[in-house]
Amino acid sequence: MGAHVAGVAEDEYAVAHYFEANLPAYRGWQWCAVIAASPGGELTVSETALLPGPGSLTAPDWVPWDQRVRAGDLSPGDVLPPRESDPRIEPGYRLSGDPEADAVAGEIGVNLERVMSRVGRIDAAERWREGPFGPDSEMARATRFHCGDCAFYLPLAGSLRAAFGVCSNEFSADGHVVHAHYGCGAHSSAQAPSGQGSPAYEPYDDGAVEKVPAEQA
Ligand code: SF4
Repeated sequence: MGAHVAGVAEDEYAVAHYFEANLPAYRGWQWCAVIAASPGGELTVSETALLPGPGSLTAPDWVPWDQRVRAGDLSPGDVLPPRESDPRIEPGYRLSGDPEADAVAGEIGVNLERVMSRVGRIDAAERWREGPFGPDSEMARATRFHCGDCAFYLPLAGSLRAAFGVCSNEFSADGHVVHAHYGCGAHSSAQAPSGQGSPAYEPYDDGAVEKVPAEQA
């Protein structure tokens, strides 16, 4: 039985308490337990039932079958081919607009059947920029350090190099693509605190003598 949802007075002597059901096959359903007491008598559980909660019997919005797989759904052994006409990829014999990617495709030769398209690169860049390792993330906003000048930052190749690299610091975003303006306190130039107070504020000297004009004394 899950969290308590509500208690509803049935009459003078009975209250129905509703709890989240937390049953995979009954999403949105609730357990109902009716507690009753006769005047002067003891409390008893007079009835329990599994009941549909608000919205649980309403079908969710229709999603076409080919759009139902979400990020994170892929499990070991699954096969998930790209969608037909997936705009993120294009034939390898076409120039993708990224000189380095095209050079790699050329080196690997005509064997590289598909390469990432410009749309795919922009898509990935926007996702990474808005993600947990982007410049607006909580971690990045809480530090003055930037990945772009950190020794642990390994820039990507190709057109994404200007803004993205991989963090190689095992104590931070190790192995993740980070934005050059992301940052963290494990930056290669970070120094241990001096022990003289917060680096964000000037120390307050409470031993200093404050001169006060005589008329105010
Ligand atoms: S250690 Fe921190 S600042 Fe350096 S690359 Fe990794 S995330 Fe960026």
